[in-house]
Amino acid sequence: MKVNRIIFATGNADKMKEIQMILADLGLEVQSMKEAGVDIDIVENGKTFEENAFIKATVIAEKLKKSNLKAIVLADDSGLEIDYLNKEPGIYSARYLGENTSYTVKNANLIERLFGVPDEKRTARFVCAIAAVFPDGRTFSTKAAIEGRIGYEEKGENGFGYDPIFYLPEYGKYSAELAPEEKNRISHRGKALEEMKKVLKAQM
Ligand code: IMP
Repeated sequence: MKVNRIIFATGNADKMKEIQMILADLGLEVQSMKEAGVDIDIVENGKTFEENAFIKATVIAEKLKKSNLKAIVLADDSGLEIDYLNKEPGIYSARYLGENTSYTVKNANLIERLFGVPDEKRTARFVCAIAAVFPDGRTFSTKAAIEGRIGYEEKGENGFGYDPIFYLPEYGKYSAELAPEEKNRISHRGKALEEMKKVLKAQM
Protein backbone atom coordinates (compact mmCIF):
# COMPACT_ATOMS: atom_id res chain seq x y z
CA MET A 1 0.00 0.00 0.00
CA LYS A 2 1.32 3.45 -0.86
CA VAL A 3 1.68 5.48 2.30
CA ASN A 4 3.22 8.91 1.97
CA ARG A 5 3.69 10.06 5.53
CA ILE A 6 3.42 9.36 9.24
CA ILE A 7 1.39 11.65 11.44
CA PHE A 8 2.09 11.50 15.15
CA ALA A 9 -0.72 12.47 17.50
CA THR A 10 1.16 14.75 19.85
CA GLY A 11 1.41 18.45 20.40
CA ASN A 12 4.65 18.06 22.34
CA ALA A 13 7.61 19.49 20.39
CA ASP A 14 10.24 17.59 22.43
CA LYS A 15 8.49 14.30 21.78
CA MET A 16 8.27 15.12 18.04
CA LYS A 17 12.05 15.70 17.81
CA GLU A 18 12.71 12.38 19.53
CA ILE A 19 10.21 10.58 17.27
CA GLN A 20 11.54 12.15 14.05
CA MET A 21 15.07 11.11 15.03
CA ILE A 22 14.09 7.49 15.67
CA LEU A 23 11.85 7.10 12.60
CA ALA A 24 14.13 9.00 10.19
CA ASP A 25 15.37 5.92 8.30
CA LEU A 26 11.84 4.83 7.30
CA GLY A 27 12.13 7.39 4.51
CA LEU A 28 8.69 8.88 5.21
CA GLU A 29 7.87 12.39 6.24
CA VAL A 30 6.96 12.46 9.94
CA GLN A 31 4.58 15.25 10.91
CA SER A 32 2.85 16.29 14.10
CA MET A 33 -0.96 16.41 14.02
CA LYS A 34 -0.77 20.23 14.01
CA GLU A 35 1.52 20.20 10.97
CA ALA A 36 -1.03 17.94 9.30
CA GLY A 37 -3.74 20.52 10.02
CA VAL A 38 -5.46 18.64 12.85
CA ASP A 39 -5.61 20.55 16.11
CA ILE A 40 -8.06 19.03 18.56
CA ASP A 41 -8.24 18.09 22.20
CA ILE A 42 -8.74 14.37 22.63
CA VAL A 43 -10.39 12.95 25.75
CA GLU A 44 -8.17 10.12 26.99
CA ASN A 45 -10.77 8.04 28.78
CA GLY A 46 -9.24 4.60 28.27
CA LYS A 47 -8.34 2.27 31.14
CA THR A 48 -4.89 1.29 29.88
CA PHE A 49 -1.95 2.92 28.10
CA GLU A 50 -2.83 0.91 24.95
CA GLU A 51 -6.47 2.01 25.00
CA ASN A 52 -5.49 5.66 25.32
CA ALA A 53 -2.93 5.39 22.53
CA PHE A 54 -5.59 3.82 20.27
CA ILE A 55 -8.15 6.48 21.20
CA LYS A 56 -5.74 9.24 20.11
CA ALA A 57 -4.65 7.49 16.90
CA THR A 58 -8.21 6.57 15.90
CA VAL A 59 -9.62 10.06 16.42
CA ILE A 60 -6.89 11.58 14.22
CA ALA A 61 -7.24 8.85 11.59
CA GLU A 62 -11.01 9.57 11.41
CA LYS A 63 -10.34 13.28 10.92
CA LEU A 64 -7.89 12.50 8.13
CA LYS A 65 -10.32 10.25 6.27
CA LYS A 66 -11.87 13.33 4.64
CA SER A 67 -8.48 14.45 3.34
CA ASN A 68 -6.47 12.74 0.62
CA LEU A 69 -3.54 12.00 2.91
CA LYS A 70 -2.37 8.40 2.81
CA ALA A 71 -0.94 8.60 6.30
CA ILE A 72 -0.15 6.13 9.02
CA VAL A 73 -1.29 7.70 12.28
CA LEU A 74 0.77 6.95 15.37
CA ALA A 75 -0.02 7.90 18.94
CA ASP A 76 1.64 7.14 22.25
CA ASP A 77 0.52 7.06 25.83
CA SER A 78 2.95 6.81 28.68
CA GLY A 79 3.29 7.16 32.39
CA LEU A 80 4.94 6.17 35.64
CA GLU A 81 3.84 3.11 37.65
CA ILE A 82 4.97 2.97 41.29
CA ASP A 83 4.50 -0.51 42.76
CA TYR A 84 4.16 0.65 46.39
CA LEU A 85 1.30 2.97 45.32
CA ASN A 86 -0.59 0.24 43.44
CA LYS A 87 0.85 1.48 40.13
CA GLU A 88 -0.16 5.10 40.66
CA PRO A 89 -0.01 7.57 38.95
CA GLY A 90 -0.14 5.23 35.92
CA ILE A 91 -2.38 6.42 33.11
CA TYR A 92 -3.08 9.53 35.19
CA SER A 93 0.60 10.58 35.25
CA ALA A 94 0.07 13.83 33.34
CA ARG A 95 -3.09 14.63 35.35
CA TYR A 96 -1.71 13.61 38.78
CA LEU A 97 -2.56 16.35 41.34
CA GLY A 98 -3.95 18.37 38.41
CA GLU A 99 -2.79 18.93 34.82
CA ASN A 100 -1.38 22.38 35.65
CA THR A 101 0.44 21.41 38.85
CA SER A 102 4.22 21.72 38.51
CA TYR A 103 6.39 18.60 38.50
CA THR A 104 8.31 20.02 41.46
CA VAL A 105 5.08 19.64 43.46
CA LYS A 106 4.12 16.26 41.92
CA ASN A 107 7.60 14.83 42.48
CA ALA A 108 7.83 16.12 46.07
CA ASN A 109 4.42 14.62 46.79
CA LEU A 110 5.42 11.17 45.50
CA ILE A 111 8.65 11.19 47.53
CA GLU A 112 6.57 12.17 50.57
CA ARG A 113 4.14 9.30 49.97
CA LEU A 114 7.09 6.90 49.96
CA PHE A 115 8.54 8.29 53.20
CA GLY A 116 10.16 5.48 55.20
CA VAL A 117 9.72 2.93 52.38
CA PRO A 118 12.95 0.94 51.89
CA ASP A 119 14.84 0.67 48.56
CA GLU A 120 13.51 -2.75 47.61
CA LYS A 121 9.89 -1.55 47.84
CA ARG A 122 10.47 1.64 45.81
CA THR A 123 10.35 -0.18 42.47
CA ALA A 124 8.73 1.67 39.57
CA ARG A 125 8.68 1.80 35.79
CA PHE A 126 7.96 4.15 32.95
CA VAL A 127 5.62 2.50 30.45
CA CYS A 128 4.87 3.54 26.88
CA ALA A 129 2.32 2.13 24.45
CA ILE A 130 2.27 3.14 20.81
CA ALA A 131 -0.69 2.59 18.52
CA ALA A 132 -0.70 2.71 14.73
CA VAL A 133 -3.73 3.12 12.48
CA PHE A 134 -3.17 2.58 8.74
CA PRO A 135 -5.26 4.37 6.09
CA ASP A 136 -6.93 1.03 5.25
CA GLY A 137 -8.00 0.62 8.88
CA ARG A 138 -5.45 -1.94 10.04
CA THR A 139 -4.16 -1.34 13.56
CA PHE A 140 -1.02 -2.36 15.45
CA SER A 141 0.45 -1.59 18.85
CA THR A 142 3.68 -1.96 20.76
CA LYS A 143 4.55 -1.47 24.42
CA ALA A 144 7.78 -1.15 26.38
CA ALA A 145 8.96 -0.24 29.87
CA ILE A 146 12.06 0.83 31.71
CA GLU A 147 12.47 -0.40 35.26
CA GLY A 148 13.83 1.75 38.10
CA ARG A 149 13.18 3.00 41.62
CA ILE A 150 11.79 6.15 43.14
CA GLY A 151 14.65 8.12 44.68
CA TYR A 152 14.74 10.10 47.93
CA GLU A 153 15.27 13.50 46.30
CA GLU A 154 15.10 15.20 42.90
CA LYS A 155 18.26 14.95 40.83
CA GLY A 156 19.36 15.98 37.33
CA GLU A 157 18.47 18.75 34.92
CA ASN A 158 17.60 16.83 31.74
CA GLY A 159 14.39 15.18 30.61
CA PHE A 160 11.01 16.23 31.93
CA GLY A 161 8.14 15.15 34.18
CA TYR A 162 9.09 12.48 36.69
CA ASP A 163 12.67 12.02 35.37
CA PRO A 164 14.27 13.76 38.40
CA ILE A 165 12.87 11.19 40.87
CA PHE A 166 13.34 8.09 38.69
CA TYR A 167 16.55 6.32 39.66
CA LEU A 168 18.08 3.71 37.34
CA PRO A 169 20.11 1.28 39.48
CA GLU A 170 21.70 -0.29 36.37
CA TYR A 171 23.16 3.05 35.34
CA GLY A 172 23.73 4.51 38.82
CA LYS A 173 21.93 7.65 37.66
CA TYR A 174 18.59 9.40 37.78
CA SER A 175 16.70 9.56 34.48
CA ALA A 176 17.11 13.35 34.49
CA GLU A 177 20.90 12.85 34.60
CA LEU A 178 20.93 11.00 31.26
CA ALA A 179 21.94 12.76 28.04
CA PRO A 180 18.98 12.89 25.59
CA GLU A 181 20.52 10.34 23.16
CA GLU A 182 21.27 8.00 26.05
CA LYS A 183 17.71 8.30 27.33
CA ASN A 184 16.26 7.67 23.84
CA ARG A 185 18.29 4.51 23.54
CA ILE A 186 17.02 2.92 26.77
CA SER A 187 13.70 4.62 27.50
CA HIS A 188 10.22 3.12 27.39
CA ARG A 189 9.32 5.46 24.49
CA GLY A 190 12.54 4.80 22.59
CA LYS A 191 12.09 1.03 22.87
CA ALA A 192 8.37 1.06 22.00
CA LEU A 193 9.11 3.25 18.96
CA GLU A 194 11.90 0.95 17.79
CA GLU A 195 9.46 -1.95 18.03
CA MET A 196 6.85 0.03 16.11
CA LYS A 197 9.42 0.84 13.45
CA LYS A 198 9.94 -2.90 12.90
CA VAL A 199 6.16 -3.41 12.57
CA LEU A 200 5.86 -0.55 10.08
CA LYS A 201 8.81 -1.79 8.01
CA ALA A 202 7.20 -5.23 7.79
CA GLN A 203 3.85 -3.77 6.69
CA MET A 204 5.00 -1.24 4.12
P1 IMP B 1 1.25 11.42 27.81
O1 IMP B 1 1.97 12.53 27.08
O2 IMP B 1 -0.21 11.52 27.79
O3 IMP B 1 1.74 10.09 27.36
O4 IMP B 1 1.60 11.60 29.34
C1 IMP B 1 2.74 11.07 29.84
C2 IMP B 1 3.02 11.59 31.24
O5 IMP B 1 3.74 10.55 31.90
C3 IMP B 1 3.93 12.80 31.20
O6 IMP B 1 3.22 13.98 31.30
C4 IMP B 1 4.82 12.54 32.42
O7 IMP B 1 4.16 12.95 33.57
C5 IMP B 1 4.92 11.04 32.47
N1 IMP B 1 6.06 10.56 31.65
C6 IMP B 1 5.98 9.79 30.53
N2 IMP B 1 7.19 9.54 30.02
C7 IMP B 1 8.07 10.17 30.83
C8 IMP B 1 9.49 10.29 30.80
O8 IMP B 1 10.20 9.80 29.91
N3 IMP B 1 10.02 11.02 31.80
C9 IMP B 1 9.29 11.59 32.78
N4 IMP B 1 7.97 11.52 32.84
C10 IMP B 1 7.34 10.81 31.87
